[in-house]
Amino acid sequence: MEKFENVDCAICNSSENLETISEKGQFGIPTFVSICKDCGLSFLNPRWDQATYLNFYTKKYDKYYRTYKNTKDPKVDPVSYYPIIRRLKSTFEPNQKFGNILDIGSGDGSKLNNFIENKMADNYYAIEPSAPHEEELKAKGIEFVSNDVDSDWDKKYPNHFDIIIMRHVLEHCLDPVQVLQKLKNVLTKDGILYIAVPNAFQPNGSFTDYFFRVVHTYYFNKISLKNILHKSGYEVVSMKEGDQHHDEELFVFAKKTEVNLPLEITSNTYELQRKIFVDGLKKEAQLSYKTKRMLKNTVATIVKMKKSVFPKPIIKG
Ligand SMILES: [Zn+2]
Repeated sequence: MEKFENVDCAICNSSENLETISEKGQFGIPTFVSICKDCGLSFLNPRWDQATYLNFYTKKYDKYYRTYKNTKDPKVDPVSYYPIIRRLKSTFEPNQKFGNILDIGSGDGSKLNNFIENKMADNYYAIEPSAPHEEELKAKGIEFVSNDVDSDWDKKYPNHFDIIIMRHVLEHCLDPVQVLQKLKNVLTKDGILYIAVPNAFQPNGSFTDYFFRVVHTYYFNKISLKNILHKSGYEVVSMKEGDQHHDEELFVFAKKTEVNLPLEITSNTYELQRKIFVDGLKKEAQLSYKTKRMLKNTVATIVKMKKSVFPKPIIKG
């Protein structure tokens, strides 16, 4: 049974000045998307409690979100084609070699495999909650660090990692500031933190059928992502809203700093974020949009049915 809890804004700590924008998310699951009116951070409130999420990730997540594992075509797997290395080389010294790379939310290790194939580092490490992947990772020569980013795994690796990858992970965290602060302890002095998240200023797909999802506890835009990094003790090296590889993704390279960098707390961010969500939801509620989606889904179902029915020859006795 799902249990819910209330949370305060992770950037400005506001608990009162929050507005609920939607109560429905992907797969029809109750998903309470809110925006902080003080700083414009968007997050789920209320949301499932930690035990409910942990149960979902260990037992159900792959069934909902990693269905490409069931196909044989590697082109369907979006992860192995992901351009992190190209982005890294275009931002830093392109021939740089690294000691230790950690991938948080590694899945079966497809992303790290790209680094391994390019001989980019000496050692590879992974944190991954989904139980079946542990053996696959070990088989690829990747050290399995933990199945839980919130546990005390960091004690074993002080100032250890030259790169930490968090591809579409931060928006899943229950306490992003705590996670980012923990990562400061395990990054080397000049270590690089790579974060990619969906861009809440440029959302793609339907809100209620795709973009709003119970596993996405945070919906970052370029202001709130910078704020959460500053609050956690990082400086931004480069941040981009999409590139030639991926239009709708917000991605950032950051380094740790001991300087207290300022937060940008303004209701302008709230107004802009609210307008993007509310306008999009209004459009979806219009009949023409709903009809188009229904038609698209019906066609997709017919195509699927045809594929499954026609290849089998009917042999009459
Ligand atoms: Zn706030």
